[in-house]
Amino acid sequence: MKVLVVEDEHKTSAYLKRGLEENGFVVDVAETGEDGIQLAAMQPYDLIVLDVLLPGRDGWTVVTDLRRRGVETPVLFLTARDAVRDRVKGFELGADDYLVKPFAFSELLARIRSLLRRGPARQSTVLRLEDLEVDLARHRALRDGRTLDLTPKEFQLLSLLLQRCGEVLSRTLIAEQVWDINFESDSNLVEVHMRRLRSKVDDPFETKLIQTVRGVGYVLEKRA
Ligand code: CA
Repeated sequence: MKVLVVEDEHKTSAYLKRGLEENGFVVDVAETGEDGIQLAAMQPYDLIVLDVLLPGRDGWTVVTDLRRRGVETPVLFLTARDAVRDRVKGFELGADDYLVKPFAFSELLARIRSLLRRGPARQSTVLRLEDLEVDLARHRALRDGRTLDLTPKEFQLLSLLLQRCGEVLSRTLIAEQVWDINFESDSNLVEVHMRRLRSKVDDPFETKLIQTVRGVGYVLEKRA
């Protein structure tokens, strides 16, 4: 079992590494959120132990970034903060468990074993960009915490854009993926559906996420 510990305090990370290794785990340590993301995106871990207060990118942004990249490794947050608000935030962002410092190593070990018993990393089912969230398994789309009322095609279209977030998708590719048809250049099928999707996903919100790339297609990303 391989565990990634993301913790900037050397004393704590050394203590965790030694303790976990004594219990048969293979442990990598990252001292910044950025390094943690790089490691977790490059190789599979069975679990990530993630400190919330890190220099630069904190634990919240690390887990958000990982989930957005489709890394669904279970995350156990370690933090000195005990506010209920923070705890709720952690779970909303996709934390699997939460342990408040200072903690007993035996409790950490018990939590880790319990998380690992839930099985291997879950399928990547929740995709996110900013306040937009699509849960593929539950077939549910939310923006700013509100459910978006989408038709099945609109849902598929949004899922495709979000799965390939930041990538410009041509109308041809979209038509093939969503309608399973070869796209005729005079058809405005994609435009029509995209307009309806935008009226639900973007129009009611200040930040627009669906961008048109003239003559090419569409991309889902936040533009300033
Ligand atoms: Ca810290």
